[in-house]
Amino acid sequence: MGIKILWDQQAPPGLEVPVSRLISMLLCREVEIIEYPLLADGYDRNRDQYDAAKILDRLQNTFIRRYGIADPLLLVTSRDLFVQNCDFVFGLARKAAGAAVVSTARLDNTYYNRAANDDDLIDRTAKEGAHEIGHLLGLDHCTDRECIMFRPATLDELDRKKKQFCTACRQALGVRPE
Ligand SMILES: [Zn+2]
Ligand SMILES: [Zn+2]
Repeated sequence: MGIKILWDQQAPPGLEVPVSRLISMLLCREVEIIEYPLLADGYDRNRDQYDAAKILDRLQNTFIRRYGIADPLLLVTSRDLFVQNCDFVFGLARKAAGAAVVSTARLDNTYYNRAANDDDLIDRTAKEGAHEIGHLLGLDHCTDRECIMFRPATLDELDRKKKQFCTACRQALGVRPE
């Protein structure tokens, strides 16, 4: 089973390949990048953010259904995401639909008035993308602060995570230990 990555037209251009390579390496699965002009639902004018659940609704109800996609699907977008009762989320996964979304909005140094750095953005997008796909493959959150499946509340917590799953999560994924 492979993984499909849908790169939003508004997502940072040129990072598709390095991000996909890292995700493929982390999960030991093939990754296919898909170009598709997906309409983003769920814009909230008051918050100037998108409702991640509504974006997943559209992925589930149009794209996945229309093309009969069976592989885990990750949408990468630059739109800032929220869910009910949360100021923001880095991403959201819906296991029953086999679909997840990750936002680069708050993974970008420039959001925090720091100097732009593509390597940082690639690493963070790959970590959070692999995290959401991990949920699609049945993993829950992990208490190991260095594991991909740890749930970071801040960018610093995200940066403290390594680009790898812990031993327990690797076993749960059926990926052989390093
Ligand atoms: Zn999570
Ligand atoms: Zn873990």
